[in-house]
Amino acid sequence: MSYEKEKQVAIEAVTRAAQLCLAVQADMVNVDSLEKGDKSPVTVADFGAQAVVCQYVTANFPEAVIVGEEDSGQLRTPDNAAKLAQVIGYVQQFFPQADAETVCGWIDAGNGQVADRFWTLDPIDGTKGFLRNDQYGIALALIEQGQVKVAALAGPVLPVDLSEPAGAKGVVFVAVRGQGAAVAPLNSAEFTPIHVVPVTHPENVRFAESVEAAHGDQALQEALAQAAGITTPPLRMDSQVKYGAVARGDAALYLRLPSPKQPGYREKIWDHAAGSLIVEEAGGRVTDMHGRPLDFGSDYKMHDNRGVIVSNGELHEVVLVALADQ
Ligand code: AMP
Ligand code: MG
Repeated sequence: MSYEKEKQVAIEAVTRAAQLCLAVQADMVNVDSLEKGDKSPVTVADFGAQAVVCQYVTANFPEAVIVGEEDSGQLRTPDNAAKLAQVIGYVQQFFPQADAETVCGWIDAGNGQVADRFWTLDPIDGTKGFLRNDQYGIALALIEQGQVKVAALAGPVLPVDLSEPAGAKGVVFVAVRGQGAAVAPLNSAEFTPIHVVPVTHPENVRFAESVEAAHGDQALQEALAQAAGITTPPLRMDSQVKYGAVARGDAALYLRLPSPKQPGYREKIWDHAAGSLIVEEAGGRVTDMHGRPLDFGSDYKMHDNRGVIVSNGELHEVVLVALADQ
């Protein structure tokens, strides 16, 4: 199977969601309310993004099962009427006829259960990054028998070239199992193949980790990077765009060890499925901290995995060995 249609639909779906998120951000004039902890903009963008992705996937694949992060329950309560109206407003930029029922129906098309064949969606991965005007992603993956087959990941504000942070922003990563990984600027159809970085001089490469200290174990992550010979400061970014960074060679490792404060946390499939295929197809490797493959086929939580190690391949064993020695 070539997965050509699935790939094109996935690219288009995350591109539309990225456009919606950028529209919400452009309207985020009330920075004050953000500083006071008002999370409405990200909530609106999150629901809006899920609606447009689910609409597009189900319009093209009516039988599609989608396991998305959000459902419309919260949005339907009277307290959230204003928020729902905003979501509808943004979705209407794509579908002028859409009303409340239609939009909530699209959001809830993402309430599927893990099955033999399903899509998983994180409409905004890295909500904290979105609110800080930092990185976030829209991640969509097609999973068959527990194996990720197609992945699309939009980074609406990720620099096209990380060494030129003031330059053009917005990218889409894509991968199909067995066909490699590629990246294109957002809204462009010009995909370029990407590859992980070879490590001849570990002192010149970086490792990536979450901005949020609570989403990992930064002390251990630094120790592991050092074990791999990396001495440069970490590349801290929110969301799955860290997988994109490894896939296109901005970093040689992405380390995500369980937070000592939340040892019971289980990673969610939508936070890793798309990114993992993009890295693997770019020549890298993805496992949990014990070297086990990530389990995308059992539940939306990866109950039997702990932590996530993403590498250019070469550095994987040294990190796993250093971890086993801890
Ligand atoms: P990042 O931007 O890499 O920190 O990833 C954001 C994702 O972290 C969110 O989508 C959450 O699902 C997830 N998350 C929330 N709490 C934790 C935690 N304690 N450990 C690991 N990941 C978490
Ligand atoms: Mg997420």
